[in-house]
Amino acid sequence: ETADGQVFPCDLVVVGKGVDPNMELVGDTRINTDYGIVVDNYCQTNVPGVFAAGDVAQAPDIIRGETWINALWPCAVEQGRIAALNMLGEETVYRGSMRMNSVQFFDLPVISAGLAVLTPGPLGARAGEHDETMEDRPSELVYRKVFLKDDTIVGFVQIGEIGTAGLLKILMERRLDVSHIKSDLLSPRLSLGFLLPLIQDNRDRFNEREFQELMESVGV
Ligand SMILES: Cc1cc2nc3c(=O)[nH]c(=O)nc-3n(C[C@H](O)[C@H](O)[C@H](O)COP(=O)(O)OP(=O)(O)OC[C@H]3O[C@@H](n4cnc5c(N)ncnc54)[C@H](O)[C@@H]3O)c2cc1C
Repeated sequence: ETADGQVFPCDLVVVGKGVDPNMELVGDTRINTDYGIVVDNYCQTNVPGVFAAGDVAQAPDIIRGETWINALWPCAVEQGRIAALNMLGEETVYRGSMRMNSVQFFDLPVISAGLAVLTPGPLGARAGEHDETMEDRPSELVYRKVFLKDDTIVGFVQIGEIGTAGLLKILMERRLDVSHIKSDLLSPRLSLGFLLPLIQDNRDRFNEREFQELMESVGV
């Protein structure tokens, strides 16, 4: 029963409470804030030498093209690493974060990433952020959906079979043009080997270490 007296019969309740950054520390300072502490591609605030990372930092979001809070552990770790390197004078650019969720409901794995929510609201996509969606439901417990904008992936959902989520994430965070492989994006047989020519053609989107690791993993 909710506070206003509505009763919803159900077997299970899942509570999503969201995250509010604690901004007390910077309240009376010159540091730019919005929903969080706004930082640039170096995880630096508008005040030189002052950095922010983690749930409190409103940092560049790869997919949205603006600063956003993606309150996730891996984002906090990466932003902390980038901020620390820049504090030490080793100029290092933060690629940006994106929304990701990976969860297992009983035996059912679910992954969503990027702008994968159509409803309006802080997590949802706004008008014009998708221009194409593709979906497939090959069986009762398997569902796949990919959201595209200008021939790049801006979000995806996988339920039941999540084996290609890592590959879609690579394509999405590198903003690779997938116009020639659209029909394969929903296929469970999508593989790194298949994507190799596209990755090699876009070598400049990967740093040297990432590129070598990808090549080694397919024996090139
Ligand atoms: C219920 C829950 C489940 C989550 N599940 C996942 C998950 O499955 N996967 C995932 O990737 N992420 C998950 N997260 C998010 C993840 O925990 C956060 O993204 C991560 O902890 C952020 O790290 P942080 O260091 O930025 O902030 P925090 O871990 O919140 O650490 C900030 C610290 O700063 C302290 N602090 C605040 N103000 C001050 C001050 N003025 N002076 C001194 N100290 C201060 C706080 O007490 C706190 O200890 C979850 C979060 C919650 C709440």
